[in-house]
Amino acid sequence: MVQNEGHACLVCMAAGLTPLAGGGKAGQNPGGMETRFFTLLAMGLCLAGLPAVAQPKSAGTPDPKLIEDLVVANRVLSDQGVVDGFGHVSVRHDKDTNRYLMSRSMAPALVKADDILEYDLDSVAVDAKGRALFLERFIHGEIYKARPDVKAIVHSHSPSVIPFSVSQTKLRPIYHMSSFLGEGAPVFEIRNVAGAGSNLLVGTPELGTALAKALGDKTVVLMRGHGSVAVGSSIPEVVFRAYYTEMNARLQGDAIRLGDSITYLTPQEAAAAAKTNAALVMRPWELWKRKAMKSE
Ligand SMILES: [Zn+2]
Repeated sequence: MVQNEGHACLVCMAAGLTPLAGGGKAGQNPGGMETRFFTLLAMGLCLAGLPAVAQPKSAGTPDPKLIEDLVVANRVLSDQGVVDGFGHVSVRHDKDTNRYLMSRSMAPALVKADDILEYDLDSVAVDAKGRALFLERFIHGEIYKARPDVKAIVHSHSPSVIPFSVSQTKLRPIYHMSSFLGEGAPVFEIRNVAGAGSNLLVGTPELGTALAKALGDKTVVLMRGHGSVAVGSSIPEVVFRAYYTEMNARLQGDAIRLGDSITYLTPQEAAAAAKTNAALVMRPWELWKRKAMKSE
């Protein structure tokens, strides 16, 4: 469940070694030669097991407003039912486009400023401080690599979206609020990349890259039998998109159950409405923020 970047070599730990430990003087320790041999062997194995990834350097202290908004986004997404105990939201670092910010592995509703960590685009934490990281952090790093226009990302398992990830019915904009869905959301089939027996999680850079490819230049990608990812040019925009993706799925399901043919937005209508809405994302953001942060 948890995954840390820290390295601890079990061979070294079992041998109780610091370098040169066990190398007592001849005569004082009859088993010295064997111990020394074992020490060197253990150290060799230990070094061979060290991760090849160098620890990334920090891009510096982010704008405090960015951290504040990221905390608010975690609370809002939870308060609005887009995420529950699972799901995550990230934002690109304001000082370096090759870094992003996201909480340690925890329930979004509980995130505080102190829980926010900095990652490079390989999703290596600059300083994990020994804390667990999200298994699916590669979703974020690989999308930031593939999409320079993306500044914030939400991954959720919001329930109404799931049926559209497993059926042939495409998630399409049913009303103006979800017009950012354009001609419909693509679906990422993890089985095509990970084979028939995966745990469905995007837990490697390769799977993150494949997901980013499935997203293409769209705003939302569904993940078969799992959830979805929304991207945006700001935290308020991506929260808006994650919320209205869930809402659209609920309404589209309702319309389908009515049994008649459905009139979706045309691509032209979707483009025009999306342009209008892009200027209005702060209105619900301020409302959701006030509700979610009431107890603070
Ligand atoms: Zn997930």
